[in-house]
Amino acid sequence: MRTMDNEMQRRRRRAQQRRDTAKAYGVMVGFFAFLMVMAIYFMFFHNKDSEGKAAELPKVVNENKNTQEVNFPVSSPDESAGTPASAEATSSQPAQTDASAAESVSSQDAPQTPQNKVTAPVAEGHTLEVKDGVTYVDGILVVNKTYSLPRTYAPGGLAPEAEAAFNQMANDSWGEGIGLFICSGYRTYQEQEEVYNRYANERGTEEADKVSSRPGHSEHQSGLSMDINTTDYWFVGTPQQLWLEAHCADYGFIIRFPEGKESYTGFEYEPWHIRYVGVELAKKLTEQGLCLEEYLGITSDYRYATDQN
Ligand SMILES: [Zn+2]
Repeated sequence: MRTMDNEMQRRRRRAQQRRDTAKAYGVMVGFFAFLMVMAIYFMFFHNKDSEGKAAELPKVVNENKNTQEVNFPVSSPDESAGTPASAEATSSQPAQTDASAAESVSSQDAPQTPQNKVTAPVAEGHTLEVKDGVTYVDGILVVNKTYSLPRTYAPGGLAPEAEAAFNQMANDSWGEGIGLFICSGYRTYQEQEEVYNRYANERGTEEADKVSSRPGHSEHQSGLSMDINTTDYWFVGTPQQLWLEAHCADYGFIIRFPEGKESYTGFEYEPWHIRYVGVELAKKLTEQGLCLEEYLGITSDYRYATDQN
């Protein structure tokens, strides 16, 4: 009995072992099948997904590029460092030789057409008047990139009150051993046109706009502005420049294109270019640290220019 029992037990154990082995195979096959399914899933579906994301990425970048702000170029109405003397010097010569070339550049250059004309914004509370083609904001004559003077506006020299104020300032400066003088004063429309068109013919309007005002847009034509001692940046930090900056308001002048106000004036810092506005306003602007465009709530941008010439 005992041996029979043993024999049966052995058989049972073997049967059990075979079943266990079969189970193990089953589990392994199932596991490999699962791995295959996962592998197939990752190879096809998952890959496609990441490619799809990758393909979308540049689109997002492009959209961001499209929403970037547009910066408007800032330029200098007088000659900037490098070529100051030539234009200032030639600007005093009569301008009648280059009329045909000037004409073609002017028409080519016309920045606006009536169809796309945008009216220049003026801040609330300010009054803009145009008398004989000359723009006055709150009674103050304005010449900048937005507002131009007509070709016919030709006072023939510095305004008497501006000239008298400068003479007083110059006398006082010489008395203190400083020494201010006018480097460039009144300039006619034609002189400005000649200077601007020479640059435009040689280098194109984009470059010309960087070193020169367009005809009608130079404050020098008003007879209220002048460049003191130089039109070069070596002027910065000299006793003359520091004296001019500190005292010009006492005589009714402002530094017309102050440092850091380029986005308002449309022009780079020009420590030498002064504009007569009268003692009261000059002191007010200087004390409050405002440039003329800020104070009058106006723009200086060729996009708004409405030249009558
Ligand atoms: Zn100037």
